[in-house]
Amino acid sequence: MCSARPDARADAMPTDAHSMNAAPTDARADAMPTEARGTNAVTPDARADMLSDPQKTIEVLQRHRFVFQKKFGQNFLIDGHVLRKIIVAADITKEDMVLEIGPGIGTMTQYLAEAAGRVTAVEIDKMLIPILQETLAPYENVEILNADILKVDIAALVREKNGGRPIKVVANLPYYITTPIIMGLLEKRVPVHSITVMVQKEVAERMQAQPGSKDYGALSLAVQYYCEPYIAANVPPNCFIPRPKVGSAVIRLTSHEEPPVKVQDEKLLFRIIRASFNQRRKTLANGLNNSPELSFSKEEIGEAIRELGMPAGVRGEALTLEQFARLSDLLSQKAESEQTDREKGDLPS
Ligand code: SAM
Repeated sequence: MCSARPDARADAMPTDAHSMNAAPTDARADAMPTEARGTNAVTPDARADMLSDPQKTIEVLQRHRFVFQKKFGQNFLIDGHVLRKIIVAADITKEDMVLEIGPGIGTMTQYLAEAAGRVTAVEIDKMLIPILQETLAPYENVEILNADILKVDIAALVREKNGGRPIKVVANLPYYITTPIIMGLLEKRVPVHSITVMVQKEVAERMQAQPGSKDYGALSLAVQYYCEPYIAANVPPNCFIPRPKVGSAVIRLTSHEEPPVKVQDEKLLFRIIRASFNQRRKTLANGLNNSPELSFSKEEIGEAIRELGMPAGVRGEALTLEQFARLSDLLSQKAESEQTDREKGDLPS
């Protein structure tokens, strides 16, 4: 994937942030994964106006005198093989409305427009809007919004554009806001069928991690409460212009119809999870005890951990999602019975 070749035009390209001294070859039609052939309408890269041709990307960027904004996490994809993999992983059909976050110059948007019923693309950088208007002009099913995705009411957008039916989110995400974007979608329960996104490889591994591994933490538990994660591809830096300093991965998060565990108080569950991983080297009991978000006594915490069947010195990283849910319910019950005792006057208020 993305074997690099020198590109003589790289130094003619304005960039404030990164060097751009190699572009991947894209002569890869026969390297196309079999699952990509004959599925949804994914236009072959042979079309001269497809931006996945790196030369076309460079030509567009130069003609518009585009200057990369490091602060917006701009690393544009220039590999058709990766783009096809994303479309296949996202399982886009003509029935789908897709929300693309950060279309850049529209490279992935072109593929999405070919495969989906409708695409809404939200781009923060106003310098990219005229470029998008040009590169996406042939596609009537694409709408471009110039906005900060973190300020968009996505649930309202889904109601307005898709009658509230679940959408598919597909993006090569700006890495500086990966977690707020994904957690915003999940916690606000925006109707999404799946989220298929390019993220930093390390973040994808954290989302998919299981108890006991070094990557396991609050992000793994939060993502797995709402979704089934699946890493569809690892993507090296030379698939982007400019090259990011880190490896990337495409992860698909498919929404659960029902969360895999039942819990009385979801907010408490997530407060407990956050507290357990805030101080990673501390025991679970100390993490919960020291958390400003929780007000259980040392005794209540110790008792709950015992009732869970765990040793007193257990660390958060050893607990499964199910065990966290059980711990949360045990602590809720203790809080409730304390409240009842207070109301009966058995405890000072
Ligand atoms: N999708 C393009 C591609 O794959 O070539 C560009 C991906 S680039 C990694 C991330 C894009 O997100 C950039 O176009 C950037 O300007 C945009 N972006 C950054 N922060 C954003 C935000 N808060 N809201 C919307 N778009 C944002």
